[in-house]
Amino acid sequence: MIDLKKAEMQDIVDEISAKTGIPKPTLQPWTDAETMNQEPTFAAAGLTFGGEIVLCYCPLIFTKLTRDEICGEIAHEFGHIADGDLAKDRQNMSFKAQQQAELRADAFAKKHGYGSGQAAALREWYYREGGKQIEFLCREYGQLDHPPTLSRIKALESK
Ligand SMILES: [Zn+2]
Repeated sequence: MIDLKKAEMQDIVDEISAKTGIPKPTLQPWTDAETMNQEPTFAAAGLTFGGEIVLCYCPLIFTKLTRDEICGEIAHEFGHIADGDLAKDRQNMSFKAQQQAELRADAFAKKHGYGSGQAAALREWYYREGGKQIEFLCREYGQLDHPPTLSRIKALESK
C-alpha cells in the first residue's frame, strides 16, 4: 500500500491557501504505479469536467523535495488558479502566451514568499534530469509550455 501523503499535502495546501486567500483545491494523489513512474515531483492544478479545481500530485514528491521546495511548487500551482489559467484553452494559446502564464505563476509564488523554495525545486528537477528542459515533460502531459528552467530560477531568486 502506497502512502499517499495526503495529510502532509493538505497541510501545505492549507498554509498556502491561508497565506494567499485562494480557495483550496481538492487533492488527487496519483495512485497507480504506472503514472507514479513518470515523474516523482509532478504536481499540477486542473479542472474536472464538473468544474471542480483539483491538485494532482505524485506522492513520491515527498521523497525528492523538502517541505519548502514542495510549498514553492504548490504555490506556483496556486498562481495558475489565481490567474484563471485552468479554464483557458491551452491547445489554442500561443507559445508566448503559455510561457507568460508560467512566469506569472512563478511571480505569484515569489510574491507570497515561496520563490526560493520553488527555485530549489526547479533546480532539483533540472539537475536530476541532466539539464533537460521542463517543457518537454509538460508537452507529454499536455500542459502549458514552460520557459527555460534556468531563467525561471534566476527570476525567482532575484531580489
Ligand atoms: Zn505552471
